[in-house]
Amino acid sequence: MTDNRETDLLAAVPDSLFIGGDWRPAASGNTLEVFDPATGLVVKEIADAGVDDGKAAMNAAADAFPAWAAIPARERGEILRRAFDLLQERKEDFALLMTIEMGKPLAEARGEVAYGGEFLRWFSEEAARVQGRYAANPEGTGRMIVTQHPVGPCFLITPWNFPLAMATRKIAPALAAGCTVVIKPAELTPLTTLYFVKLLEDAGLPKGVVNVFTTSTSGAVSEPIIRDPRLRKLSFTGSTGVGQKLLEQAAHGVLRTSMELGGNAPFVVFDDADLDKAVEGAMLAKFRNIGQACTAANRFIVHRSVAEAFARRVTERVEGFAIGRGTEEGVTIGPLIDDRAVAKAKSLVEDAVSRGAQLKTGGKAVDGPGTFYEPTVVTDVQPGSDILREEIFGPVLAIVPFDTEDEAVSIANDTEYGLVSYVFTESLSRGQRMIDKLETGMMGLNVGVVSNAAAPFGGWKMSGLGREGGAEGIHEYLQTKYTLTPNP
Ligand code: NAD
Repeated sequence: MTDNRETDLLAAVPDSLFIGGDWRPAASGNTLEVFDPATGLVVKEIADAGVDDGKAAMNAAADAFPAWAAIPARERGEILRRAFDLLQERKEDFALLMTIEMGKPLAEARGEVAYGGEFLRWFSEEAARVQGRYAANPEGTGRMIVTQHPVGPCFLITPWNFPLAMATRKIAPALAAGCTVVIKPAELTPLTTLYFVKLLEDAGLPKGVVNVFTTSTSGAVSEPIIRDPRLRKLSFTGSTGVGQKLLEQAAHGVLRTSMELGGNAPFVVFDDADLDKAVEGAMLAKFRNIGQACTAANRFIVHRSVAEAFARRVTERVEGFAIGRGTEEGVTIGPLIDDRAVAKAKSLVEDAVSRGAQLKTGGKAVDGPGTFYEPTVVTDVQPGSDILREEIFGPVLAIVPFDTEDEAVSIANDTEYGLVSYVFTESLSRGQRMIDKLETGMMGLNVGVVSNAAAPFGGWKMSGLGREGGAEGIHEYLQTKYTLTPNP
């Protein structure tokens, strides 16, 4: 199924672990298979790390830390900048690789390369901007000096849905701050991280500063690393359930943690919204990444007076989507990541319909090969439906009508998550009221995508802890020291 370009690219991707600057197989010799979700075929076999490999990666990160932390910030920044430049040269390869292992359409994969690359550029600049404070104490008897220091070796765990951006969003600030890392990509999409770590090696990163292992036994290999007393920081992006488990493990060593967890984003369309903007925003907020984004709009809360027009217009757009392998010209909806994802979308739609929702389009899995689910619109979703509570993580647009602003706010906030909210209104004062009232770490006001390397990405409530990107991002990898000294 793959052409020569794909074959050559896959051959260029490392199939081993990168520990202390060496590419090596798993100590056990075990391997794991990586699949193309559009075809169900194995595309590559790579090393399947065990506990000893994880420990070796931890050792390498700990050994490399003092020297890396001592390198001038400007030099660390320049390595990140070289990585950014190399990524621009190799952008087509990275995009194709993500489409192969994750399934997103090529145009979206190119968008992820651009977005993911921006973290390298942003933190290459931020490395030299870490500042402290020097002040007289209020009593006038001494000087207070506040300095920032890298936290130490970090363990980074990333999900499968944005294979490049989730890695750069963690690696870039860690390196900029002077930390060394062990990174573990998701077993479903490990190739992009392996290829990216090779790029970092080409950019001149010293040995041991970044170590990567791939494994089919994430829990067993990760726990000893998290419990290693030399580890000082755990940064995780993934599901809330796994995040909670990792927080318990991190409590042992009182680790600094960043947790980018699940979402259940409301997308509120008021009667004074510009429907053109709202429909455009809905397409992005819902169907980008085939609905498999933590920032994906999960619940479309639409004023009753415009609900029908909105539903008709989004249905027309959805019926124009082309389903297929993301490498094919014109494809807008690729496969879901695996069978479980298809089963979940199917069961959420069936539950909603059984409780009275109307199916406007879609609603079925597509016959194989590959794990495809039709882009779907359901309206009049009833309170209590699972689809309102759970992350859909698929191309299903679910509409709930509302009558008053207070009701919209109360439906929007009726979730344990608080990652992102989208609001469409042409009223400035209403928009500002929504900024005040919605329980959310991020908000798109008349836009359907908010992510930006220069902005603090992160959630409230059970969506997580900490921020990635922006001026905040590097502070996740720094610790503060305060020194008091008497007046001279
Ligand atoms: P997941 O929690 O199953 O897996 C995430 C990562 O954790 C993977 O690398 C996986 O191998 C690893 N993992 C799983 N169990 C582990 C364990 N016991 N110990 C150590 N590592 C373990 O999530 P997923 O299915 O890969 O990703 C989808 C989830 O990620 C969704 O809930 C989505 O909302 C969330 N997500 C959040 C953000 C964000 O920034 N908030 C971004 C992308 C995805």
